[in-house]
Amino acid sequence: QAKLDGRNKTCFYDPAMQAELHSRAKLEAGIRHGLENGEFELHYQPQFDAQHRLVGLEALVRWTTASGERVSPGEFIPVAESTGLIRPLGHWILNEACQQLVRWSSHPQLSGIRVSVNISAHQLHEKAFVAEVIEALEQTGTNPALLELELTESLLVRNVEQTIEKMAQLCEKGVRFSLDDFGTGYSSLTYLKRLPLNQLKIDQGFVQDLLTDPNDAAIVRTVVALGESLDLSVIAEGVETQEQREALLGYGCQQFQGYLLGRPMAPVDLEAFVTNLS
Ligand code: C2E
Ligand code: MG
Ligand code: MG
Ligand code: MG
Repeated sequence: QAKLDGRNKTCFYDPAMQAELHSRAKLEAGIRHGLENGEFELHYQPQFDAQHRLVGLEALVRWTTASGERVSPGEFIPVAESTGLIRPLGHWILNEACQQLVRWSSHPQLSGIRVSVNISAHQLHEKAFVAEVIEALEQTGTNPALLELELTESLLVRNVEQTIEKMAQLCEKGVRFSLDDFGTGYSSLTYLKRLPLNQLKIDQGFVQDLLTDPNDAAIVRTVVALGESLDLSVIAEGVETQEQREALLGYGCQQFQGYLLGRPMAPVDLEAFVTNLS
């Protein structure tokens, strides 16, 4: 497809690939700059139980560049991961979430509500990861029991023993763990049992087609049963309709997160949102 002509001698790859490289390099520089300039913020998406009580918040990073452009985490997190920038970014996210927990510690509706923070594989496999989390908790004065870390299955295929050891150390401090996007990876059930997990999070892909795809419904039922037998809570993410929530309830799922119940919100918007909950 890429035809090299005289005007474009430096083009060794096809144009799409070069555009991709260009945008990755641009993104990398942008992330670096954005971190220095305070362009990142955390939004929080509410999680509810079957009685519609607020039980948690997921912290989701947001980036608005100086020129006002919003870049989605689906786009910049992979770049941050492959460039190592996830370390400083992840550090900022963890500290910001802890500071927010402290700011909310005397809030009438939000005190005692736990916050989940997404952790990339690269962060967890970092030697200083455990120390970093403990430092963030201690420096901010955060109650460790209110911090939940969301890990993905892909992260657990490497260094299983080390991962278990790190999780155990944090678990001992009271930190909770949730397994994000569950069902999309390759978790071996034998070591799932050995991980100090508190929660399985059903991937939104299964929720999406729950009502029309019997395979997805079967997976949801299986995850709920697995949660019960391993004594883990099960939360469904990406719940967009009342019909989906009811079907999930019918399968025994007890916690829900999704646009039906609330979008990810800036702290000030979340504060307004929770005062309007009955
Ligand atoms: P995730 O952790 O699985 O987060 C759930 C994603 O689904 C979020 O997208 C959220 O905004 C979106 N979502 C929530 N409810 C609904 C719904 O009802 N329908 C639909 N269609 N989507 C819904 P977001 O914020 O764009 O984040 C995408 C992914 O980026 C996250 O997936 C996570 O893997 C990563 N990410 C986001 N924030 C962070 C972070 O602070 N640190 C790290 N390491 N990764 C993050
Ligand atoms: Mg998540
Ligand atoms: Mg997820
Ligand atoms: Mg996902």
